[in-house]
Amino acid sequence: MTARVVIVGNGMAGARLATELHARGDERKVTVLGAEPHRAYNRIMLSTLLAGRIDEPDVELTEAAGHGIDLRSGVPVAAVDRSAREVRTADGERIAYDHLVLATGARAVVPPLPGLDPADLPRRVVPFRTLDDCRRILAVARDARSAIVLGGGLLGLEAARGLATRGLATTVVHPTNHLMERQLDPAAGTVLAGTLAGLGVTIQLGVPATGVAADDSGVRLDLADGRSLHADLLVLSCGVRPDTALAQAAGLTVRRGVVVDDRLRTNDRSISALGDCAEHDGTLTGLVAPAWAQARVLADVLTGTDPLARYRPRPVVTRLKAAGIDLAAMGEAVGGAPGEELTFTDPTRGTYARLRIRDERLIGAILLGDNPAIGAVIQLFDRGHPVPADRRALLLGRALGGAVSTPSASPALMPDAALVCQCNTVTKGALVRCWRSGARTVDAVVAGTRAGTGCGGCRDAVGGIVDWLSEAESVEVTR
Ligand SMILES: Cc1cc2nc3c(=O)[nH]c(=O)nc-3n(C[C@H](O)[C@H](O)[C@H](O)COP(=O)(O)OP(=O)(O)OC[C@H]3O[C@@H](n4cnc5c(N)ncnc54)[C@H](O)[C@@H]3O)c2cc1C
Repeated sequence: MTARVVIVGNGMAGARLATELHARGDERKVTVLGAEPHRAYNRIMLSTLLAGRIDEPDVELTEAAGHGIDLRSGVPVAAVDRSAREVRTADGERIAYDHLVLATGARAVVPPLPGLDPADLPRRVVPFRTLDDCRRILAVARDARSAIVLGGGLLGLEAARGLATRGLATTVVHPTNHLMERQLDPAAGTVLAGTLAGLGVTIQLGVPATGVAADDSGVRLDLADGRSLHADLLVLSCGVRPDTALAQAAGLTVRRGVVVDDRLRTNDRSISALGDCAEHDGTLTGLVAPAWAQARVLADVLTGTDPLARYRPRPVVTRLKAAGIDLAAMGEAVGGAPGEELTFTDPTRGTYARLRIRDERLIGAILLGDNPAIGAVIQLFDRGHPVPADRRALLLGRALGGAVSTPSASPALMPDAALVCQCNTVTKGALVRCWRSGARTVDAVVAGTRAGTGCGGCRDAVGGIVDWLSEAESVEVTR
């Protein structure tokens, strides 16, 4: 392994890389420099924290500090000197590296609106990206009666649902004509808007904001149609931008993100990048599963555990983490080349399903509301298996005939290769092996495989598999 590895950024990718390096048992020195003052935390659980369904200690990530890993929080890196192979921290310290990893993530976009200065936002106007942002939102929300969320994408809707759960009269303002237009088609967006309205969230569509005025007493958001909305809190959820400033200043190749190859190497062989700041094969990932997959590959390459390891993107499934809304979107659900289209809409019950099939394979899907086939559809999509001949059964979640199975159906029917935890790429087979090696509780299996430690959406499935294994074993013992 390279002698001194310096990781810039102690977010979800940087912290995971440190853990992966540590897990490979190499004694050499790893330094992690994180700008945020906190210990590493699970950023994707901030929506759940905002909704009050977990507490702050629940978002902390287990760190690999000690054992040759020097972890420094509250230490922003100001510059990279590639010729000297050093980074310079904001307070002037110089730290030498043999290999540098940029894991600087992304920043929330503050829209260029009159009344908003990104460097000096009013107390009642808060973006939603960091733990400090979340604390600020909660501090204002405590005495607030109303909130506006600017941006009806995934995070904006999670924030809005969370604030409504806390009793705030919440309005989402979105510039285009349907919600989550990157993942949903207009029909799904309409059903989703209806579901949110039923949960107490008001939606204003197709109306860009034109300005903001905020003082100690409240916030005013001006809209392009001449109206103004008033609230106690304005949450900005207008997208993110990869944090490429260090890479750019150091002369690395940057397009939308820091350009990396399959080994996560930049154009400087001594510098890698991963996570939200990296651009691989023209794509920004913006999700935790690819960031953690990249961390595994980079740790294999840097330690020499598997010098031939290469990052290969997997199909991505996006899920909304909002109580009372079950939504999954994947693949070419919107746009893309033509394919076979199957849709089912039941707006009064908040249900919508769309499957797109090409060459007998699922190339994209949207499942909103009560869709019993959700697990089966995700598996078919993820594994690229042929879809059943009876399309209607798949669309409506009936009579799947064992072609595909889900943890909720019966773990016994699931193939070992079925992916249970999307974030950590953990299969049923890995859970079974962990059980067989002695883990006997859900917590032990989670600790042994990491399943359920990302967005937490698969915890019930992991629990179901552990229950099934316990029962199967007791049957074997009694026999
Ligand atoms: C509220 C919310 C919910 C989300 N939900 C999901 C979800 O359900 N599923 C999903 O897959 N993804 C989700 N995401 C996205 C996910 O959190 C990111 O994809 C993931 O955090 C990327 O990890 P990262 O380490 O690349 O970036 P980050 O987690 O942003 O970490 C980057 C770190 O680098 C630090 N840094 C930057 N510059 C410097 C510097 N110069 N010196 C030192 N440190 C620096 C930053 O302060 C930050 O701590 C969500 C994001 C948010 C905000």
